[in-house]
Amino acid sequence: MTVHPSAASIASTDDVICVEDLKVSFYTDLGIVRALNGVSFNIPRGKVLGVVGESGCGKSITGLSIMQLVHGAGRTEGGRILFREFADRDPVDILTFGKNSSEMRAIRGNNISMIFQEPMSSLNPCYSVGNQIEEAILLHQTDDKLEAARRAIEILTKVGMPNPDRIAKSYPHELSGGMRQRAMIAMALSCNPTLLIADEPTTALDVTTEANILDLMRGLQSEIGTSIMFITHNMGVVAQMCDEVAVMYLGRVVERATVDDIFYDPKHPYTIALLQSIPRLGRSKGRLASIEGTVPDPYSRVEGCAFHLRCPAKIDGVCDVTVPEEIVVDAAKGHTVRCHLYS
Ligand code: SF4
Repeated sequence: MTVHPSAASIASTDDVICVEDLKVSFYTDLGIVRALNGVSFNIPRGKVLGVVGESGCGKSITGLSIMQLVHGAGRTEGGRILFREFADRDPVDILTFGKNSSEMRAIRGNNISMIFQEPMSSLNPCYSVGNQIEEAILLHQTDDKLEAARRAIEILTKVGMPNPDRIAKSYPHELSGGMRQRAMIAMALSCNPTLLIADEPTTALDVTTEANILDLMRGLQSEIGTSIMFITHNMGVVAQMCDEVAVMYLGRVVERATVDDIFYDPKHPYTIALLQSIPRLGRSKGRLASIEGTVPDPYSRVEGCAFHLRCPAKIDGVCDVTVPEEIVVDAAKGHTVRCHLYS
């Protein structure tokens, strides 16, 4: 085992995105919320990275930061977000572009797209679904309106919409929840993005529709080759969708590993607790395990390891004093952990 300053500190040519030491804070009337305290991770080309953790751990803020969509009281205070569209090109640091710069507008919705839990937050209720997909294609891909209309129907067909010609003319409120989600996925994939950020895209759906949407995303991902950052709190979805997993706690990635290692060889006490809290078929005796305590008040600053207030393996005098470094526990598999038990 070796201490490693940051597994993601050098962007590999295989990486689509490499987030390095990202720090984001929110300045509110009640105080400062340090939402991201030095987040680092990378997503290899064509792979699906699951980003998991409880509410408030910084998963969504990380996705919004990549899109440069942190507004209002939020400020990016450090770090880099290196995006490499093609393996043979140099990466660009997204954070050097202004939020509304021409460079950022060329990337957002084109090279990098995002889908949200609630489709109505992305779909405009005043325009038909086809019209909105065509707009995205006309903005980034072609000036030819007929070609844009043809591609809109093509992508609606690809996401499994029955009768895509009719759906293209429909307004979002005329569709069911599952169909709206498909429409949003169609819009996000209409420009063949290099990276898709999916923020809890199936949480609001029933289990059958969720299974259909996950199948669809996995199929499209292998067909188009898009890398996906899949934000979720559902470990079952992680097992089904992801190649690799980053576990976040209070604004930091505390463990990063292949999906197999996360489930069969987890290292961080928080990851272990997350896995123990999943209901399993056949494990009917006793109460379902839950993680002791709650996520600390976001306005307070926790000294040492952010998980020490809830950790059953806490080492007094160490864990409550010193922030653990990122440790490489298996270099070949890229398994890293932030915990004093491994240093
Ligand atoms: Fe628990 Fe200490 Fe590891 Fe934090 S560093 S997870 S408190 S053992």
